[in-house]
Amino acid sequence: MPELPEVETVVRDLRPLVVGRTILGVEVGDRKLRRPWDAAWAGRLAGVRIEAIRRRGKWILIDLSGGARLVVHLGMTGQFTAVPVLALRPDHLHVVFALSGLVELRFRDVRRFGSVELVADEAAAAASLDAKLGPEPFDIPPDGFYAAVTGTTRTLKALLLDQSLVAGVGNIYADEALHRAKLHPETRGTQLTKPQVTRLREAIAAVITHAIEKRGSSIRDYIGGSGLKGGFQHEFRVYGRTGDPCATCGVPIQRVRVAGRSSHFCPQCQRAAVS
Ligand SMILES: [Zn+2]
Repeated sequence: MPELPEVETVVRDLRPLVVGRTILGVEVGDRKLRRPWDAAWAGRLAGVRIEAIRRRGKWILIDLSGGARLVVHLGMTGQFTAVPVLALRPDHLHVVFALSGLVELRFRDVRRFGSVELVADEAAAAASLDAKLGPEPFDIPPDGFYAAVTGTTRTLKALLLDQSLVAGVGNIYADEALHRAKLHPETRGTQLTKPQVTRLREAIAAVITHAIEKRGSSIRDYIGGSGLKGGFQHEFRVYGRTGDPCATCGVPIQRVRVAGRSSHFCPQCQRAAVS
C-alpha cells in the first residue's frame, strides 16, 4: 500500500510531465473505484489546464485552472502515471486523461481501493481528505507530539498508523521508524520518556526522508509517476524480514500482531518496556 514516500515520488515524477498541460478529454472505465466518478465531471474538465500537483499525507491534489481540484488516492494498488499517448495500454485502467502534447495521465488500480474525484475548490478538497490529517512527518511540533504520545495508553504502532497524529505513515514506515528509534511496537505511549519521544519523532522524519530519496518502496504494484519502481525495499531493516538477522545486532527479526497489523521488530534492539 503506497505510503507518503511513494505518493511523494508519484507527485514529483508527474510534476514536470503534466503541469502546464491542458486536459483534452477523459475516458472512464465501467468498474467502480472506492469513490464514484460522476459522469458530469468529464465535461467540466475538458479544456482545463493543470496548474500544479502536490501531496498531503497519502493524497494527491491537482490544482486546475478555474479553481477546481482533482483529489486522488492510490488506495492499495493504484498507479498514476503520465506516458506518451501511444504507450501500450495495460489492463485495469480506470481513468485516462488525454492531455495536450500527446500525453496521457492514467489511473490504473487492480484492486480498486483508490479514487479520483473532482471537487469545486480548496475547501471542498480539504473536506474530501481523511477527516483529520495531522502534520507531515517533517514538521511534527515537538510539544504537541510529546503530549499526544505520552497522554495515551495506545501502542506506539497504533499511534504511528493514526493519520491524525502524523499524516502519511503506514505499516512499512511505522515498523522502520520504530526500529530506528529502538522502541518496541507494543510499548504504550504513557511508557515513553521525553528523550524516547524525541527519538521517535526524529526517526519518523529520517525514515520518510530516506525513503523519498530512494523513490519509495516497490513491493507489489507500486511504481512512480513515470513508471519507474522505487528502491527503498532494499533498505528495509525490519519490514518483511522476519527471521533475517537484524542489521544492527544480528538477532533474528520477529513479527507480532499489533493494532491489527503485522509488526516487524528486533527483540534485542527494541526491548519491550517494563511496567
Ligand atoms: Zn537488533
